[in-house]
Amino acid sequence: MNKLSSIYTEKNNCQDCYKCVKNCPVKAIKLEDNSASVIPELCIYCGKCTQVCPANAKKVRDDLPVVRQALKKEKIIVSLAPSYISEYENIETNKIIAAFKEAGFYGVSETALGAEKVALETKNWIDRQENGVYISSCCPSAVLLINKYYPEHSSAVAPILSPMVAHAKFLKKIYPEAKVLFVGPCIAKKEEVNQFGEYIDYVLSFKDIKALFEDIGIFFEFMKPAEEDVFIPIRANKGNLYPIDGGMLTCMIDSINSDIDRINHNSNKKESIRYMTFSGVKNLKEIMRDFDSMKNSGKTFIEVMTCDGGCIKGPLAISNKSSASKRLNVLDKVSVEPRNEEMLSKLNELNISTKYDFIKKIEKEEYTLNQIYEALKMVNKKSEADELNCGGCGYDNCREFAKALIAGKAENDMCISYMRKIAQDKTNILLKKMPSGIVIVNDKLKVVDANKNFADILGDEVKMIFEANPGLYGADVTKLIPYHNLFSQVLETGVDIIEQDIRDGEHYFTLSVFSVQNHNLVCGIIKNLHAPEVRKDLVLNRTKEVIMENMKVVQQIAFLLGENASYTESMLNSILESHSNDKDELTNTK
Ligand code: SF4
Ligand code: SF4
Repeated sequence: MNKLSSIYTEKNNCQDCYKCVKNCPVKAIKLEDNSASVIPELCIYCGKCTQVCPANAKKVRDDLPVVRQALKKEKIIVSLAPSYISEYENIETNKIIAAFKEAGFYGVSETALGAEKVALETKNWIDRQENGVYISSCCPSAVLLINKYYPEHSSAVAPILSPMVAHAKFLKKIYPEAKVLFVGPCIAKKEEVNQFGEYIDYVLSFKDIKALFEDIGIFFEFMKPAEEDVFIPIRANKGNLYPIDGGMLTCMIDSINSDIDRINHNSNKKESIRYMTFSGVKNLKEIMRDFDSMKNSGKTFIEVMTCDGGCIKGPLAISNKSSASKRLNVLDKVSVEPRNEEMLSKLNELNISTKYDFIKKIEKEEYTLNQIYEALKMVNKKSEADELNCGGCGYDNCREFAKALIAGKAENDMCISYMRKIAQDKTNILLKKMPSGIVIVNDKLKVVDANKNFADILGDEVKMIFEANPGLYGADVTKLIPYHNLFSQVLETGVDIIEQDIRDGEHYFTLSVFSVQNHNLVCGIIKNLHAPEVRKDLVLNRTKEVIMENMKVVQQIAFLLGENASYTESMLNSILESHSNDKDELTNTK
């Protein structure tokens, strides 16, 4: 199986919007060379980034080509995740099985069989534990989160294989020559293959299977299932509840028949156990935060899944129905029919205990306040008041961003307020240095910004206003200039006006108005035609125009004029040069 990371970034697609950083619950994303890449050592493969990226830049490793090749030479059994019930809603089970077999798979088995065994083993393990808080090991993403980020509580995780791996181990016991392919909605399970490759060979998503079936031309509705198109080696029953919140607990708790048991949700054993279920990384992180304070309250078992609502809402699910609707589907379809006892005892004999000590814990970096202040200074935050905590960079607050800067995971230009300040400073300098009058006007015809030359061109009254309100922010353009209709026109039509001659009393101007944001913001550049540098420019431009026009004629009648043509051209060029020299002098004497 492919050992590359299960999630990667398509660098060309990344638009640097930081949405993945914002949504990553463990900030396992590094900004580098204008793209946001996943740091595998920090990632818990929850898949959030793949779901939120608006540019489709976060990709899940495509394992379908490997499985296609394997199908040609290997006997592959599908371990079908119980969330198939909500994915293949209204499709008869035997048609689903027939479709997989038509695609070349040897048979289909329910991962829920492994889930039932996991429930039993977890229950037995809990019963043997002292009072304390214990956590399920069914969700590989949750197991990664606890072992990487809360290693001090890793012993609370049940040392038991996940349902997928337990099921694969069972299938290998029954069909030793077969390979096992898991099909489900989960990215984290792709990572499990690296560690438990002895049992599980391939992991594909429901999306992959859809693509495979469509490619081969397999459609459930056209399948004609045979009698033998049933789950092998036996059907699962309550294990099919696993993909919903509380599903595992339902498998673990046999009966609740006294009031005190109801309060404690126990299973009528001597020792009371409180059973709880939570999904979503946020909940899980909160549990970890409060873990120590819960330890002294008897014995508690918590079923956790990182996907909100459970695996039915896994990142690679196809159906986007609500958790409630999917949940009902699962509840409606769980079967509790009697099963082959011999096969059940083989499942029960299976040893599914394991250790998760192969997961490398993340060393928490501690930074001094000084280091954090220094990092904040890099983005122009010199006091607490500068820390806006706007979250635009994707981090919860400025200090978390500063830590990411120190760790080399973030870049200065992720800070929006810092970048805005730089842009503003640059604009101010540009506006100041421009020899023409510049004014930026919004759709309400109010000034957003203007330079001093603009005020100077408009005369003493506007100059005074500018002194009191530099930039003329908020001033009404209709009261400042009589030709404001040109601004309204560009705002309305979006068509730019280039160098229109304007007369205002004794004064002559050229005015260009162009859109900065279509129908929202326009910029006006106004030149006083009496200004010496403008006059020079005008002469130069007009001379250039004459030369260009003349050149066309010269070329056409060159053979008639001979020497005279080049004489005319060099005459005009000399005018141009003399004015250029004047302009240079003018610039040099400034
Ligand atoms: S998969 Fe989850 S943990 Fe990994 S980078 Fe994406 S959002 Fe972060
Ligand atoms: S909740 Fe289910 S689908 Fe989501 S990461 Fe965990 S195991 Fe995978």
